[in-house]
Amino acid sequence: MRDHILEERQRSIVRARTDAAKDIRCDAASVSGAVSQRACVYCGARVVLNPITDAFHIIHGPIGCASYTWDIRGSLSSGSELFRNSFSTDLQEKDIVFGGAAKLSAAIDEVMAAYAPKLIFVYATCIAGVIGDDVEAVCRKAEERWGSRVIPVKSPGFSGNKSTGYRLACEALMQLLPRGGEHPESAGINILGDYNLAGEMWIIKNYMKEIGIPVLAGFTGDSSYESLIRAPAARLNVVQCAGSMQYLARRMEETFNIPWIKASFFGIEDTCAALRQVADLVGGPGARRKAEALIRRETKRVERWTRPCYERLEGRKAAIFVGGGFKAISLVRQFREMGMQTVLVGTQTGSAEEYEVLKALVDADTVILDDANPAELEAFMREKGADILVGGVKERPLAYKLGIGFCDHNHERKRPLAGFEGLKNFAAEVNMTVNSPVWRHARV
Ligand code: SF4
Repeated sequence: MRDHILEERQRSIVRARTDAAKDIRCDAASVSGAVSQRACVYCGARVVLNPITDAFHIIHGPIGCASYTWDIRGSLSSGSELFRNSFSTDLQEKDIVFGGAAKLSAAIDEVMAAYAPKLIFVYATCIAGVIGDDVEAVCRKAEERWGSRVIPVKSPGFSGNKSTGYRLACEALMQLLPRGGEHPESAGINILGDYNLAGEMWIIKNYMKEIGIPVLAGFTGDSSYESLIRAPAARLNVVQCAGSMQYLARRMEETFNIPWIKASFFGIEDTCAALRQVADLVGGPGARRKAEALIRRETKRVERWTRPCYERLEGRKAAIFVGGGFKAISLVRQFREMGMQTVLVGTQTGSAEEYEVLKALVDADTVILDDANPAELEAFMREKGADILVGGVKERPLAYKLGIGFCDHNHERKRPLAGFEGLKNFAAEVNMTVNSPVWRHARV
């Protein structure tokens, strides 16, 4: 198998125990010339910021970059729907020769005049970065003219990888959070790295409500300008998607002295651990007792749905390729709970520490990849005889072409996969796709 992998990619692929002593190459630029499943810097920033429901997004670049909209990142809102709009300065050849700053300034004025939003994010994409428009100055002057926040996100796609985009988005959020004023400590928490896909933030908030812990702000699922600026008063930041939001948690700890923990709400083991941990750290009297009661009730409720699925999935093989390492770890545990074996696991932006956890969790011969390309995923899925691939929109056709099941665990999912409700949905989806009769006819 190694013969078919580019020399420069060899260090990004390990077998869990055979290569136990080998450090996987990760958190680095993609290999030039090798296709990458990763999104660009701008897309990374947009993933994080787009779910703010009353924010506007102006994409300073050619129209193509603006195709990355709410429609392919469907987080839900309980209030404003402004975030479903997307604007572009649609830079043309003339703008590229003479500069696009005036066009950007006019676009901001147009949006302000029509909608008067409290918050606009302006994304500088590749072309804006190449021609060197002073996006910061344009945004600063627009703030002076209109009195609303206009925050630049300097995110040319070529300036790093998706992780760079996450960091830039976190810095943009830090620009939003008020400093210097009084931030009296509250009993509440912030939830970081949940984007309310299919209503998952609401599931977590309901759990917190039941155990008596208020959520001040969600970053950024179903959030608003007003909710986000309350965030510095929280007692704890709970980080669900560590890849995108651990950086913000660290910055908020430095600036506002808010401690943080990682907590996953995917799979029964991690969901129960998360509820207990948050209850113990910030819950008032009785919070742990309420958390245990919730866990008992929900575990029993979903068991009658999950058990028949698990019986039909026993011994089947899973391949995982997702954005971040923390989610990959939860998924490996979740497949173990389901009686399935993870034969391949990879991420776009996993860290060295997360890959070490994965090595210890999976079977000896499990293949672990960082920043994989479709050819590698295909080769290893064939070699290992995977029955299902869990990934995002870019991985879906690959699974179907190989004639194996697929489960979307990315931003396009339409059913929640977090919490106990998510457990039920995940078991049903995996069972349906793995045991679908279509594969008997389509297997290649
Ligand atoms: S790589 Fe550049 S041109 Fe392509 S979507 Fe990203 S910012 Fe736009």
